[in-house]
Amino acid sequence: MMRDYSTFSFWLEDLGESLTPRPPLASSADVDVAILGGGYSGLWTAYYLLLHEPTLRVAVVEKEIVGFGASGRNGGWCSPKFPLTAGALEKRFGAESARAQLLAMRAAVVEVGRVCAEETIDAQFHSGGILTLARGEHQVPGIHSTYAAYERLGLADRYQLLSREEATERIRVTDVHGGLYTPDGASLHPARLVRGLARAVEARGGVIYEQTPVTDFRPGSLVTAGGELRAKRGIVLAGEVYLTRFPQLHRALLPAYSLISLTEPLTAAQWSQIGWQGGENVASTRNTVVYLTKTADGRILFGSRGAPYAFGSKITDKQDIHEATVKMIQRSVVEWFPSLAGIRFTHAWGGPVGMPRDWMPAVRFDAGSRIGSIMGYTGQGVSTSNLCGRLLAGLITGRQTGLEKLPLAQRRSPNWEREPLRWLVVRYMQGAYLRIDEAAEAGQPKPIDARLAEFLGRH
Ligand SMILES: Cc1cc2nc3c(=O)[nH]c(=O)nc-3n(C[C@H](O)[C@H](O)[C@H](O)COP(=O)(O)OP(=O)(O)OC[C@H]3O[C@@H](n4cnc5c(N)ncnc54)[C@H](O)[C@@H]3O)c2cc1C
Repeated sequence: MMRDYSTFSFWLEDLGESLTPRPPLASSADVDVAILGGGYSGLWTAYYLLLHEPTLRVAVVEKEIVGFGASGRNGGWCSPKFPLTAGALEKRFGAESARAQLLAMRAAVVEVGRVCAEETIDAQFHSGGILTLARGEHQVPGIHSTYAAYERLGLADRYQLLSREEATERIRVTDVHGGLYTPDGASLHPARLVRGLARAVEARGGVIYEQTPVTDFRPGSLVTAGGELRAKRGIVLAGEVYLTRFPQLHRALLPAYSLISLTEPLTAAQWSQIGWQGGENVASTRNTVVYLTKTADGRILFGSRGAPYAFGSKITDKQDIHEATVKMIQRSVVEWFPSLAGIRFTHAWGGPVGMPRDWMPAVRFDAGSRIGSIMGYTGQGVSTSNLCGRLLAGLITGRQTGLEKLPLAQRRSPNWEREPLRWLVVRYMQGAYLRIDEAAEAGQPKPIDARLAEFLGRH
């Protein structure tokens, strides 16, 4: 029976277009490039392949529908932030590479906006910037050390440290002690972007098969129940966390669940109490991430972690929603904005994101097997996927993009541990980070195992 795809996120429901799948692959076919995955990664790769070599035969194979994965469900942050902090990037790859990676992220945000305009994708792209708030005195040092890392890398010109008053002028949130603002960053409608991108790919001659699970892959071919897609120039694995369902990639990523709850549209009176006229993407520096977006129709989207890690890296629709976390998120909205007590929440949804063992996304193209892959955004793939798709399209066709030397290029992350160690450590870490956050918020000393957790979680 066909799933009702509109139930997987507010964004898919809000599209106002038919989600009837495109026809599946019905028989074997020959193409130049065959791509697994109809999310941003697969579609950006297809887009840039066709942009630069319009005669290429490019096919995208999607198990469900375009935008079924995280690309149709995310928080809409199109951000210059990278999964690793500026300081961690600098430590791991040196100042020059860290700077290049962060500049490329900044450029990716601009490029997403540019393509939306060029291809008339009405993704509600809004360049409001990113505002990181220190909620509580304990979060102030984090903001200062982030700014210091940008200063060392010569990137601080686009960042502004804000006093409590300056932060509060932008948005009125409880317990704010300061902030860090950058104008680089946008919010967008994730599903409009992914569905619009699919149409742009088709308009350039690409073919998209939906309801077509790839059951196996090998050099030069993607295997499906309907037939084989044979590809002369290469295959691309762009299934993000779902790639872990292939035995050979089972430990390449770890599924971590992310969850969002959405309020009803606020009234003008409610908005005037909160401010937030700039529509910045807002977050705090909590370990257990929280982030907020103001939607185009005047709702507050509040995102956080989702269901705890499930043994064996299990991924099921049931894990998308975790009731205790939904309640925690809804309580947090009122803690942040007490004037919203009694606000109605209309939607909650979630999904898995792909965590690489070393927190670094990886784009690879093996010239021998001609297998390309993009994976491991740690839940920060909206802008990063544009960068990765551009890079991979260049690697496949041999066209220089200037991105080849970035730290994420031509690399592979180490595998995760085998079970049951994986489950034991990940569940411990998820609990420990939450206890560290809760102790800090209650003004209590760090839990006695905080150093152990921070050691295990270093990357
Ligand atoms: C709740 C949530 C909030 C998020 N918020 C943000 C945010 O605000 N900002 C940000 O930058 N990032 C965010 N992310 C992460 C971001 O959405 C992802 O990093 C990004 O969408 C990944 O794109 P992708 O194309 O690589 O993967 P996906 O969008 O997951 O696409 C992969 C596709 O491959 C298909 N597929 C899988 N296996 C097969 C197979 N065997 N055969 C055929 N097809 C297959 C899937 O059905 C899926 O459609 C969030 C993610 C979630 C879940």
